[in-house]
Amino acid sequence: MKQISIFGASGSIGQNTLELIRRDKAAYEVVALTGDQNIAQLVRDVNEFRPQIVVTADEKLRSELGEALTNTDCEVAAGSEAIAEAASRPTDWVMSSIVGSAGLVPGLNALRAGTTLALANKESLVAAGPLLTATAEQFNSSIIPVDSEHSAIFQALMGEKISSVERIIITASGGAFRDWPQADLARVTPQQAQNHPNWSMGQRITIDSASMFNKAFELIEAKELFKIDEKKIETVIHPESLVHAIVGFCDGGMMAHLGPTDMLHAIGYALNYPNRKRLDIERLDFTKIGQFRFFEANEQRYPALRLSREVMRKGGLWGAALNGAKEVALDRFITGDIGFLEMAIVVEVVLNEMDRAGDLGLAADCLDTILNADASARRLAGLINV
Ligand code: NDP
Ligand code: MG
Repeated sequence: MKQISIFGASGSIGQNTLELIRRDKAAYEVVALTGDQNIAQLVRDVNEFRPQIVVTADEKLRSELGEALTNTDCEVAAGSEAIAEAASRPTDWVMSSIVGSAGLVPGLNALRAGTTLALANKESLVAAGPLLTATAEQFNSSIIPVDSEHSAIFQALMGEKISSVERIIITASGGAFRDWPQADLARVTPQQAQNHPNWSMGQRITIDSASMFNKAFELIEAKELFKIDEKKIETVIHPESLVHAIVGFCDGGMMAHLGPTDMLHAIGYALNYPNRKRLDIERLDFTKIGQFRFFEANEQRYPALRLSREVMRKGGLWGAALNGAKEVALDRFITGDIGFLEMAIVVEVVLNEMDRAGDLGLAADCLDTILNADASARRLAGLINV
């Protein structure tokens, strides 16, 4: 039996992961499940999957979770330290699907425990890519990408040398406002930004898709995961979202990865790697799809992409600052404090101010340094008036 833990079990990726476990229960033993606010979901999942431990990040919800589970022998804990501890427990496979930089420490601990880390939490790679990949190497553990584009690249690179790669093209759906005139974007609401045309995902990544911060993060994610020069990483708008990524090689050949817009594929690939298991999801019918379209992803329209280029070129703590500032800018947009286009402005001001103060030069190879840069970026992003 494969022992697995899911960090961020109550979210969209976490629930999709549990759906795969549900389809093949005898093959898995669930060690730890974690969540934050959604106690009802955690309780349902504990009753169904019988993990050794369940943790909510919110200490105020510990008693509610504990009381609902008095009839089970599941250990109940709360707080980010308890989540970090649960991540250190020995398992064969861990899903890292907490949203935001709260996923960083659990991911690191899982790698330190020698586990295979299925990584959906792209924020941890943006903030701390060099630290995560060095930790995986040091502890002989592995990172399997779960983000659909990165799973696609990982699959296209199978049996290839990274030195043969000329370019990596990551596709972008364009998000909720792909076809909107630029002038209308200033007035969009969080509600409108939560309608993704192709994918069903958590609230934050859906809004990040509309602002293109999601794609901006994915470029950095590719650079960190595959150790590839940023100049070789491109993005194009592909409204159908069926070609997830394309890898171009030095002999002119290209490998594209295609599939339905269903995260079960990428999660299942990471769960079964290096094997593949039959998976009951939609199969593409090309005669019905008819056409694949590709358009330029314009950096004027999507400043997040321009910022991501700068962050990749500069390295150091730029990624940690980008992520911290973006998380606060997103909170401020969701609460109505700033407009949609102002998210990128806040992030850019934070990066420039921290750069001027000389705060971004250190390497992102030490947790404390990264967390300090993250905290400074958050503080500044909360203060900036736009
Ligand atoms: P959701 O918002 O649906 O789920 C997030 C999970 O993290 C929930 O379990 C939530 O708990 C938990 N959580 C939230 N805040 C904290 C915290 N401070 N500490 C600990 N746990 C916390 O997000 P998604 O599932 O959509 O995304 C998860 C990650 O995967 C993100 O990094 C995202 O970018 C990435 N990803 C997602 C894709 C998707 O299809 N959804 C595709 C590719 C990448 P609760 O709900 O109980 O509050
Ligand atoms: Mg993606």
